[in-house]
Amino acid sequence: MTVVDRTALAGGLPALSVVGRDADVRRELARRNDAADGVVARSLLVFDLNNIRWLTGFTGSAGTLVVHPDEMVLITDGRYGEQARHQLSAAGAAARVAVGTTAAALREAMEAVLQPIGAIAVDPSEITHAQFENIRSQTSAPLVTVSGVVQHLRRCKTPAEVARMRRASACTDAALAEVAPMMTGRPTERDVRDELEYRMRRHGADGPSYDTIVATGPNGARPHHRPTSTVIEEGHLVVIDVGALVDGYHSDMTRTYLIGEVDPELRRMHDVVRESQLAGLAAVRAGVAAGDVDKVCRDVIADAGFGPEFIHSTGHGVGLQIHEQPWVRTAMTEPLQCGEVVTVEPGVYREGLGGVRIEDLVVVTDTGCDILTESPKDLSCLQLAPTN
Ligand code: ZN
Ligand code: ZN
Repeated sequence: MTVVDRTALAGGLPALSVVGRDADVRRELARRNDAADGVVARSLLVFDLNNIRWLTGFTGSAGTLVVHPDEMVLITDGRYGEQARHQLSAAGAAARVAVGTTAAALREAMEAVLQPIGAIAVDPSEITHAQFENIRSQTSAPLVTVSGVVQHLRRCKTPAEVARMRRASACTDAALAEVAPMMTGRPTERDVRDELEYRMRRHGADGPSYDTIVATGPNGARPHHRPTSTVIEEGHLVVIDVGALVDGYHSDMTRTYLIGEVDPELRRMHDVVRESQLAGLAAVRAGVAAGDVDKVCRDVIADAGFGPEFIHSTGHGVGLQIHEQPWVRTAMTEPLQCGEVVTVEPGVYREGLGGVRIEDLVVVTDTGCDILTESPKDLSCLQLAPTN
């Protein structure tokens, strides 16, 4: 079959800019300081590579960023000096690059940017205890812990970020449209996964966004099943959860297919999950609590008698990470905001029988949401090809 690279033909993506993000971090840090009654930190040490990428455009595999009140410094090793200078300049990052070509030089560079300043904030979720102790040995400044300063700021996406996730979703849609009909030929779960991942790349993706899930028949009862050599057969539901990566940004979608004549209970599960998912999409809007979207989905499933079989949360934020803030789960009272990108993915799972999940990726807007996933989700019933 000829693969037409439609997404690559769709033209270039808008440039990503990080201008102003360092100022946002300083403001957020100040807000946290106001709320705290302990030592006030005016600098933030960033270790998480996604956070560093979001703040500077740097995509190397090693680096530490310090956001001071008056400057931002990226410390990296000799492999990434030229790349860092190029990427920071392209993204408009107001940051200086300090390169250490040996372990001793790196330590010296680190010590230089950590002295002499006031208290330094670090996010304990970004480093190990050993790294924390190492930093403590490199500075006389007090270290204070703060959580999720940059992750919080990453929640609302710019149009350039959304464009990447839209492109990633389009790659996934195109791949699934080509691969779904192949399921009539009795492939294994692994065959389907391999075709999807190959075709996403052909359509312009940098790669899969996460380990693609293809779960057929009873395997579908496990929400995060890993593809096996199980053959897709008559009477199965097939859950396919697949996403693509484009320029660092993820997409995420799930569709469930019916193969031939299925148990009426599976068909009912599909109908209920679809109704729940549509209700969830209709509930998404800026100002609505994420927990309320979860409740809308959960209520439809519970009313149909499948409540205990909806065994995960309704959704999650997506961006530079496949799972990030905001969380669309029970009791999340924080309102969704314009520009946040979240999934809506209710599911029902029954041991021994199978599972159904339907998932779309959406951008929150003032009036509702912009759905990035375009794959059809009506009852996707495939007939197996006759054997001979
Ligand atoms: Zn998914
Ligand atoms: Zn998801």
